[in-house]
Amino acid sequence: MVMRYDKSVTEQISARISQLSDDEIRQIGNCLVCGGVVSTIGVWMPRGNIAKLFDEPRGKFRGLVYGVCDKCSRKKDTINQVEEIIFKQAGITKRMRAETHRRS
Ligand SMILES: [Zn+2]
Repeated sequence: MVMRYDKSVTEQISARISQLSDDEIRQIGNCLVCGGVVSTIGVWMPRGNIAKLFDEPRGKFRGLVYGVCDKCSRKKDTINQVEEIIFKQAGITKRMRAETHRRS
């Protein structure tokens, strides 16, 4: 199942990102992929059954704020790498993901 976020969710996320404090921006740290200097901030949001692995409460969305450098932000594969890094950091294995897909 592909879940699409409605415009209001996207707008809320954009608004929240634009209001990040200096301290929150510092917490993002370096480029998630290569460790370089962050130039772009993104929000990764788990969808569908994957969201359940992140204990997403019903009716709410959970997003993970991350930063990437200029070089990584231009690569097509970066979002896939970001996703793999997030899964790895959260301790979510490929097997766990495959099992949630089977259950859906
Ligand atoms: Zn990078």
